[in-house]
Amino acid sequence: MSLSNVPKLQELYFHPWKLPLETLTLVDDQFYSFIEYLVGSTLSNLLRVQEINSVPILLLTTDVFKHLFLKINDVETDLLRQELLLQIDNNNLIVKSANRTKIKCLFDILKITSDRIFQEGQRIATKHQINYSSFAIPSATPAVSTANTYSTLTVDDQRNSLLKCIDDWSSLNETFFNLKEFKLEEGNNFRLIVKAGTNGIQASIECLCKTIITLGKLHSKLIPSNFYRHLKSPGCKYVNRLLKEQKLEETNRNNSYSTTSSSSSSQLIDNNSQSTTAVVPNRKRTLGSTHKIKSKKQRKN
Ligand SMILES: [Zn+2]
Repeated sequence: MSLSNVPKLQELYFHPWKLPLETLTLVDDQFYSFIEYLVGSTLSNLLRVQEINSVPILLLTTDVFKHLFLKINDVETDLLRQELLLQIDNNNLIVKSANRTKIKCLFDILKITSDRIFQEGQRIATKHQINYSSFAIPSATPAVSTANTYSTLTVDDQRNSLLKCIDDWSSLNETFFNLKEFKLEEGNNFRLIVKAGTNGIQASIECLCKTIITLGKLHSKLIPSNFYRHLKSPGCKYVNRLLKEQKLEETNRNNSYSTTSSSSSSQLIDNNSQSTTAVVPNRKRTLGSTHKIKSKKQRKN
C-alpha cells in the first residue's frame, strides 16, 4: 500500500478514523516505513531492534522504551539511547518526553483503528458512524474518511458488487463440502434483494432452502459473509439436500462400477477367445435362461 494516502500524525490525532484499515496488517519493512512516516526513523528503528514488526505486536508491547534501559551493549542500541534519552544527572537517564508523547499518540490512533475493525466486524452497520462522529471536529469542509468511501454506492453498485463477491467465492469454493455440483447463481440458487431504506442500503438473500439471510456491512459496503455462514451451517436444507444427493450418487456409482468392471473383464476374455460376436450374445442368453430356470425352480418350491 502507498503511504501517500495516509495522513500525518498531527492530522490523525484529530481524525483517527482517517487511517486506512490496511495499515493494521502491514508487517516488517512496510510496517517500519509506516511507523517512520508517522513518528520518525529513530522510533521506527527502536521497534526494529526489538523485532516489533506489526501493529498487533506493537499494541501488545507495554513499554517500547524499556529496551533502552536493559543491559544491552550494541552499537545500534547505543545510538538509539543517544537520540531518545536524556541524561538528567550523572547516572540517571529518562526518555525525552516528545518521544513518549509520539508513541502514546501512535498507540491511541492504532487502538481506535483496531477497535473499528472489531466494531465493524460485528455487522452493526450504523454503530461505527456514531462513534466516528464523536471524534469529529466541526469543520467547513466535510472530511472524506475511509469509512464513508462506499456511502456513495447506489443500490445497483451494491448489488453488482455483492453478485461479483458471491461469484468469486463460488468459483473459489468449487470443492465446497466436496460437492461437485455446488454452484451459486442468482435467480437459480439464491435470490438477492437490495433496497434503499431509512438506514441506507440494506440487502438480504433468500437461499434456495427458503431461509432469508440479512447481509452485514463493512465501511457502508454490503458484504455477503452472512450468506456463506448460512451455507456452511447445518441449517441450510439446500446444501443438506446436495450432500444427500451426492452421497446417493456415489453409492450408485460404486454399484455400477462393480458391474461395469465385471462386464469389461468378461469382454477381455471374449476378445482373447477371438470370437467376440458369437460368444457375447450366447453368454447373455445362457445367463438369462439359467436365471429363468432358477426362478422357475423357486416357484415350484
Ligand atoms: Zn440455505
